[in-house]
Amino acid sequence: MQFGLKGKTALITASSKGIGRSVAEGFASEGCNVAICSRTRSDLLATSKELKDKYNIDPLWCVCDLNKSSDIENTFKAVINEFGSIDVLVNNCGGPVTGYFNNLEEEDWNYAFEQVLMSVVRFSKLVLPKMIKNEWGRIINITSISVKQPVDKLMLSNSFRAGVTGFAKSLSNEVARHKITINNVAPGFTLTNRLYELAVEQAKDKGISHEEALANMAKQIPINRLSAPEEIASVVLFLASKQASYVTGITIQVDGGYTKSQY
Ligand code: NAD
Repeated sequence: MQFGLKGKTALITASSKGIGRSVAEGFASEGCNVAICSRTRSDLLATSKELKDKYNIDPLWCVCDLNKSSDIENTFKAVINEFGSIDVLVNNCGGPVTGYFNNLEEEDWNYAFEQVLMSVVRFSKLVLPKMIKNEWGRIINITSISVKQPVDKLMLSNSFRAGVTGFAKSLSNEVARHKITINNVAPGFTLTNRLYELAVEQAKDKGISHEEALANMAKQIPINRLSAPEEIASVVLFLASKQASYVTGITIQVDGGYTKSQY
């Protein structure tokens, strides 16, 4: 399917690895100008080289810690300098620290607030004026199935992803008349470093191997396997497409049927 994105500029945050990286690859394969960012220069260089070799594009990469508003502003400026506009913003971030309420300190709450919610607010604020001027734009936030069904021991994700969902729905109503859509993609269990780390932690808690922990996760999913990051990316690409012009303010879970709710 042609998504009608050729020549558009897509900025994908937290995109040197995992889901963000797959999303960047999706936009590269569509012939977009691609900008990636994360904290570690060497990872960005490696991802950027892979994208360049595979898709014959010249991605822009920026070192950006999403918990620092100055890094967010610098990244925004660098993308505008290079490509002139940001047509598609994909707000991804690292997963917040795990823990039950009892294990979490105020500093954990503050960090996750900045990481999960404020990075989305800050980037959205920066990109919207130009999207409004261009009368076109897409903002897609990567959240989690925790917005539909809280996940055990992920108190911070369960709390702040819901904030992103409320923010996205409210903002989508404010900007819809400018042909800007704002949606969320909520991944289920997706095979990335993050899931591997969660499996290692679960394995430790339960006295099993991390392979068993991953197999137990897969067993809970009607499709009976974990997701590949590309399966999340393809839904992001669809929401960015011209075909998705009438879809706004929603969350699509991509979870192999894991979520129990029918909504
Ligand atoms: P990952 O750990 O594989 O990749 C995370 C990326 O974020 C990396 O590129 C890392 O460098 C970057 N990053 C981390 N902290 C950052 C920061 N402060 N500033 C800038 N970049 C930063 O994770 P993933 O599995 O791809 O997950 C992406 C998002 O999706 C996370 O928020 C995660 O919680 C969420 N999610 C993942 C799953 C899953 O099963 N993998 C399920 C639901 C939700």
